[in-house]
Amino acid sequence: MNSQPTAGAPKQPIRIVVAGGGTAGWMAAAALSRTLGRTAHVTLVESDLIGTVGVGESTIPPLANYLRLLNIAEADFMRATHATFKLGIQFDNWRVPGEGYFHSFGAVGKDHWAAGFQHFWMEGRERGHAQPYDDYCLELIAARESKFAHLPDGRVNYAFQLDATAFARFLRSLAEGEGTQRIEGRIAEVELAADGDIAGLVLDGGRRIEGDLFVDCTGFRALLIGQAMHIGYDDWTHWLPCDSAIAVQTSSVRPPVPYTRAMAHDAGWQWRIPLQHRVGNGIVYCSRYLDHDAAEERLLGNIEGETTTKTNRLRFVTGARRKQWHRNCVAVGLSSGFMEPLESTSIHLIQRAVLRIIRMLPAGRVAQADIDEFNAQQLQDMEQIRDFLILHYKATDRRDSPFWRHCAGMEIPDTLAHKIDLFRQTGRVFRNNEELFAENSWIQVMMGQGIMPETHHPVAGKLSDRELDHLLSGLRANVARTVAEMPAHADYVARYCGAREAEAA
Ligand code: FAD
Repeated sequence: MNSQPTAGAPKQPIRIVVAGGGTAGWMAAAALSRTLGRTAHVTLVESDLIGTVGVGESTIPPLANYLRLLNIAEADFMRATHATFKLGIQFDNWRVPGEGYFHSFGAVGKDHWAAGFQHFWMEGRERGHAQPYDDYCLELIAARESKFAHLPDGRVNYAFQLDATAFARFLRSLAEGEGTQRIEGRIAEVELAADGDIAGLVLDGGRRIEGDLFVDCTGFRALLIGQAMHIGYDDWTHWLPCDSAIAVQTSSVRPPVPYTRAMAHDAGWQWRIPLQHRVGNGIVYCSRYLDHDAAEERLLGNIEGETTTKTNRLRFVTGARRKQWHRNCVAVGLSSGFMEPLESTSIHLIQRAVLRIIRMLPAGRVAQADIDEFNAQQLQDMEQIRDFLILHYKATDRRDSPFWRHCAGMEIPDTLAHKIDLFRQTGRVFRNNEELFAENSWIQVMMGQGIMPETHHPVAGKLSDRELDHLLSGLRANVARTVAEMPAHADYVARYCGAREAEAA
């Protein structure tokens, strides 16, 4: 980096060049320009000729932090992106065909300091309480009944389902308002300096863009970090074998539900994401077990409503860039790695990367220690998410197709094997090192996939029958009462942030 300040001289703004204008590029540009103000000069280069990946519509709760950080009013963002609320994911056919479970964003029951709620629920089961674990979770029951409301004290934990193209547009207008300079053009060459730093980007026609820090948001192409800097990629397909997806949008045939669906089929799964004005659909599959035409036929045979777009075929290699920050280049978004959207985690990884860049922004020369820390933190996030995704494939009773037999028989990372063993043997789950998915997420997915603990914590056994009954029935009644008072999700969305209402007005 060549922005070393000299003592006494006014500091020059750091010149940040964002290459690519998809979700990653505009999330980065908006956050950098809004939070850094005049201390940075942000330029974004994108090419309408190349376009964006055009998917990525289901999110997880921390996106709300990004909105807060950028001072974006939630209702404005939702109106602009035709967004709906999301309380979790309904998984169908994952353990066995014909059965389902829900991974909600909410807390289930109430934890004791020594033992999570699951221990009390299991004690209750032993004493004849037959009510399902689900009944103790507000978000889950609200999702099932298609209800939603903001409750006092942020008692509902939610994310959003949004239109990806509209999201990028929304962020672009915010970023440009904060001074980001947008340049339209195809990057023809990435110029490297003698020391290996990126010196500049050369566009078709010869225009040259110089910078101090380059953010590679060029998607799967990874033009800067991969093609120019030759940073390799760790392939995780031996754990997550799906390598292809086909997306298509359809008209809505019913009011939008506040959850995403992930429906397993015999060589992968299919998503359904309801927005205010339409539904996003897609099939994710392993091309070794299902060919592309058959996958498209299967997708189109399992959608509701009319298709409103052409099908969009995508290929990917699941894995992570070996270094996400190298010299003066940071990869954000698909250029940094990719894991299938089963738990809607990619936009979250973009957010984490952007906020980390801001935290580690150099005052002068970028320090190698910062780069190493950034890389270690990003990789840890990715590995923890990877383990959580593998769990969905490995812990299955499905043996009805070669794909599922392969998944059930595959080796898994030791970190995941330990988590499964610990839960199966003791009912315990621990959240390590700021892990994204909390205990509740692991428990819901492990139980949903058929892993049941053999024992539970003795502290639950200390409660008398009366006390345990009081605890369990009180928690259930509280959930049921609160959900009963919530309005229908579609009505709430229309009132709070209805895009159609806004257009009509
Ligand atoms: P892209 O959208 O591909 O953008 C790349 C940009 O680089 C474009 O602007 C392009 O013009 C520019 N560019 C490339 N080459 C050049 C060049 N030579 N010159 C100039 N500009 C160039 N994430 C979620 O969080 N939730 C989901 O539900 C979800 N679903 C997904 C489903 C699928 C099938 C896939 C593949 C991904 C999904 N994702 C999801 C991930 C999400 O789509 C991406 O993380 C997100 O869209 C960011 O993409 P990007 O900006 O990195 O890349």
